[in-house]
Amino acid sequence: MSRHVSRRDMLNLLGASGVIAGLGVSRAARADDPVAAPRTATGKVVSSSMHSPASVVDGKVVQPQRTLRVAAETDVLVVGGGPAGVAAALAARRTGAKVLLVERYGHLGGLWTGGLVLIVIGMHAKGPDGKLIQVTRGIGEEMMQRLGKVHRGIVNHRLGASPTVDAEALKYVMVEMVAEAGVDVLLHSWCVDAIVDGKTAKGAIFESKSGRQAILAKVVIDASGDGDIYAAAGAEFEHHRFRTGLVHRIGNLDKVDRAKAKGAKPPRGLGGLTPIQGVNWVNMQGPEADGLDVRDLSRLEMNHRRAIWRSVERVRQSPGYERAYLLETAPQLGVRITRLLTGVSRLTYKDSQAGTKFPDAIGVGGPWGRDKVGAWQIPYGCLVPRSVDGVLAAGRCISGELRMADLLRIIPPCFVTGHAAGVAAAVSAKDGCPPRAVEVPKVQRILKEQGAYLA
Ligand SMILES: Cc1cc2nc3c(=O)[nH]c(=O)nc-3n(C[C@H](O)[C@H](O)[C@H](O)COP(=O)(O)OP(=O)(O)OC[C@H]3O[C@@H](n4cnc5c(N)ncnc54)[C@H](O)[C@@H]3O)c2cc1C
Repeated sequence: MSRHVSRRDMLNLLGASGVIAGLGVSRAARADDPVAAPRTATGKVVSSSMHSPASVVDGKVVQPQRTLRVAAETDVLVVGGGPAGVAAALAARRTGAKVLLVERYGHLGGLWTGGLVLIVIGMHAKGPDGKLIQVTRGIGEEMMQRLGKVHRGIVNHRLGASPTVDAEALKYVMVEMVAEAGVDVLLHSWCVDAIVDGKTAKGAIFESKSGRQAILAKVVIDASGDGDIYAAAGAEFEHHRFRTGLVHRIGNLDKVDRAKAKGAKPPRGLGGLTPIQGVNWVNMQGPEADGLDVRDLSRLEMNHRRAIWRSVERVRQSPGYERAYLLETAPQLGVRITRLLTGVSRLTYKDSQAGTKFPDAIGVGGPWGRDKVGAWQIPYGCLVPRSVDGVLAAGRCISGELRMADLLRIIPPCFVTGHAAGVAAAVSAKDGCPPRAVEVPKVQRILKEQGAYLA
């Protein structure tokens, strides 16, 4: 009597007779098996010699000392692939350094892409003659020019306007740029500790699916947004709670029934235009929270997701807006400010209002929103930790008083400080001197050669 033999039956039969081993498929590999031993990609059963799990000793969880594999040695290690980190990696590479960029997620762009923060504000300010000029240039401007050449990459990229980008186009452009420059990239890698020798950072430890590994570097750039690495290396910092939101995009806004909507109150929460027709991005301020507290982060993710769903439902209930829908919520929560470095210099809001000039200026920021400031310079000292060597900060976690940090954290100053940190780190690695001792005029000259605007 013939009987139907399923694939599972066949595998069981083969396994029982030992044939399966000859086919290169281990018995443990054949199904979802909760007790399966670790395997290599070839299917061989192995045990990890580097593995030393934590255990409970006298009621405390203890992690034994262990030796880590050194995954790479490099001149400049950049932690974090946001606007600051990508600018830093490109700048360091273009200044001749060997560069490794490590990012915890699977894409580049940080909050600019993963946080769906699509609009770039504060790139312009009045110049010395009172005319509007673009103050953020260099690598950040180059990224936007590249986006201009990509289908639906960017809109409003002109003097006096705030360009809005498409996150997917930007992820693509960033990959192209780092690949062209020859930056080595490790994605899906979370930096969890610093490697220090006395008061000098020598690299970082990161976790990934490949396990816990070390990267040794002559200089580390902390572009994690949260100062994770400078904090781990022992640098001093301020820890702040700040407004934390979640951005989303709405689709089908080009399919609004205008006749039906006429005369009715327009719905709230429609956000601003993006390069994709009918798709808007919607910002959210959110409540104050601690972006370093996983409980706060989890609670906000859940609350914000519910609030966004309901907000879009309200839009859909407005006459004419029935076809609108929630396209996506940002994969990355909108954490604005957490750690701020205690740097060799600390930029104040008063400095930006007064237009204070700094001999070690490495770039310029501009006003946005209600801020009544002109162009303001950023000193190199804001990137240099006061008490630790071997590490530079870039992006939203550099040194500034809280009110000023609210200006420093927007995307254009993050390009500027990333660009400068990259050049300074490469000079430091090449000249064999700590970042705090680099020849600042040399850094400034290279920045200008690379298109940056310093004054
Ligand atoms: C809701 C919201 C709205 C905003 N609106 C605007 C706006 O309209 N216009 C504007 O110009 N700016 C805006 N901003 C500010 C701006 O988006 C960010 O401040 C800017 O992106 C910061 O850049 P960054 O490179 O310093 O940090 P991030 O963009 O935060 O990038 C840091 C990167 O480091 C990675 N990382 C973090 N920790 C680790 C680690 N331990 N190991 C490895 N990788 C790590 C992250 O995954 C991320 O990719 C807004 C911010 C928020 C949150």
